[in-house]
Amino acid sequence: MSRRILAAGNWKMNKTPSEATALINELKEKVSNAKNEVLVCPPFVCIPDVCRVAAGTNISVGAQNLYYEDKGAYTGEVSAQMLLDLGVKYVIIGHSERREYFNETNDIVNKKVIQAIKNNLIPVICVGETLEQREDGVTFDFIRTQVKIALRSVCAQDAANLVIAYEPIWAIGTGKVATSEQANEVCADIRRCIAGIYDENTAQSIRILYGGSVNKDCAAELFAMSDIDGGLVGGASLKAEDFSIIADA
Ligand code: PEP
Repeated sequence: MSRRILAAGNWKMNKTPSEATALINELKEKVSNAKNEVLVCPPFVCIPDVCRVAAGTNISVGAQNLYYEDKGAYTGEVSAQMLLDLGVKYVIIGHSERREYFNETNDIVNKKVIQAIKNNLIPVICVGETLEQREDGVTFDFIRTQVKIALRSVCAQDAANLVIAYEPIWAIGTGKVATSEQANEVCADIRRCIAGIYDENTAQSIRILYGGSVNKDCAAELFAMSDIDGGLVGGASLKAEDFSIIADA
């Protein structure tokens, strides 16, 4: 089964709406013939401008988070319907920064995944181990737990369409990229885990990205690995030139 490579940019808390508009204007020219699917995930307040400038281009727009309730008294939160109404297609869920700084548990991640699917948003579910867990030899067990809980009550048909991003925490924003072999063996194990929960077809459909200091020089080697279907890119997605190279890798 052929899975289209996805180059996903996570802008985190960077770029004002005017800066975001300028970046998309620059990026849209550079990626107009990109080989890979191109996705940008700007901060919430930039999404309306980014959707407007990206309309009619090959750039899809994602959010970095959502809340798991439909609507109501949840001050400061953003719902799936609000995102959908703006033209958002994907939503990052359970990024390690949200797990670490905003106490997002596996159960919360699961509720958000279900809410995204219910509203036709494609979840990009982030999983990944700390350096200590890697050194303790519990990486596979830890990640399988994250995957299994994130997908609780998700049917095979919905699972087949979503995206998982394997992001070792020790590689995020540190400049320390996992080797292609290290990244691929975990992505392959995530795929085996999906096959165990569902079936081989679902496992072969799901896209599994690698994230952690992906840059223009290492992207092609990573994306050529058997079980890596693209990248979730932080720092390098803030530069149009670098991200366009990754979008073509
Ligand atoms: C990320 O934002 O998910 C990420 C992997 O960041 P960076 O590429 O900067 O390490």
